[in-house]
Amino acid sequence: MLKKYLAATLALCALVYGCVTTPVSENSALILIPFSQEVSLGQQAFQEISAKETLSTNLRLQQVIERVGRRLVIETSMADLDWEFKLFASKQMNAFALPGGKVGVYEGILPVCSNEAGLAAVLGHEIAHAVARHGAQRMSQQLLITGALAASSIRLSDHKNRGLILGALGVGAQYGVTLPFGRGNESEADEIGVIYMARAGYDPREAVRFWQRFSSMKQGAQPPEFLSTHPADERRIRDIETLLPEAMRIYNAHPNKQGLGESFLYILNEERLKNPGGTGQKRPAAGARQPVP
Ligand SMILES: [Zn+2]
Repeated sequence: MLKKYLAATLALCALVYGCVTTPVSENSALILIPFSQEVSLGQQAFQEISAKETLSTNLRLQQVIERVGRRLVIETSMADLDWEFKLFASKQMNAFALPGGKVGVYEGILPVCSNEAGLAAVLGHEIAHAVARHGAQRMSQQLLITGALAASSIRLSDHKNRGLILGALGVGAQYGVTLPFGRGNESEADEIGVIYMARAGYDPREAVRFWQRFSSMKQGAQPPEFLSTHPADERRIRDIETLLPEAMRIYNAHPNKQGLGESFLYILNEERLKNPGGTGQKRPAAGARQPVP
C-alpha cells in the first residue's frame, strides 16, 4: 500500500516537475525538485562555504575570476540568475558552481588552469553542472531509489541527509563526503562547458591542455580535490577532443576572441610561496597576456 502510495506520489511529482531538457546537449532528465528549492539549497551551501573559507585578498585575481565567470554565464540559458563569484585563499585545488549561480574558486587550482582559458574550461564545466541541474537530478535519483529524501523537506539543516545533499550539489569534498558525478553527468558537463567556453571567446583547445596538465599531476594518497571527483583519464581527454571541431567553429566565428587570456603563472613565483600569508599582489611582467591565435 505504502509502495503504491509512494509510486503514485512520485508519478504526480514527475507530472508536476517532470522531464527537463538539458542545455546544449539536449538530453532529457527527470527532476522531481522545484527549481526554487534547488536555488535555495545552493544559496545555503554557498553561505556555509563562504563562512568557512577565507576570501582571497588578491583583487587582481578576483577580477579575473569575475571576468571569466561573467563572460561564461552570459552564454548560458540561466544568464539572469544572481550569479556570484568568490575566490577563496586556499591551496585546495577545487572549484564549484552551485544552483542559483553561486561559484567558488580556490586559489590552488589556478596554477593548473595556467591562464584564463584554462579557468574558463573549469568554470564552464562547473557552470554546466549547475545549468543542466545535475545536483537536482542526483537528488531526484535518491528520491526514487531510496526514498531517503522527501522532495518537500530537502534542507541543509536536515542532519541525516546533509551529506547526501551537499554531495549531490557537488560540494561534498569540502565536507569530507566524496560523491563524484557519474560518467554521464561528467561528459555532459564537458560537452556543455566546452561550448560555453567557445561562446565566451576562449580558445576551447585549452580545455584539453587543462585536463592533460591535471592528469600529469601526482596522484598520491590524497589526490587534489578536483581530481578526486573529476578523473582526468584518457577517455575524458579523448572525448573532449572529439568536441573540439564544433567548439572551434563557434570560437573561430567569435568577433571578440580572448585566446588564452591572461596568464596565471606568476602565482607560482617564489616570493608568494615564501610568503603564504600574502596572496601575491605582484603584477605579472608586461606581456603576460597571451596572444590570440
Ligand atoms: Zn564535473
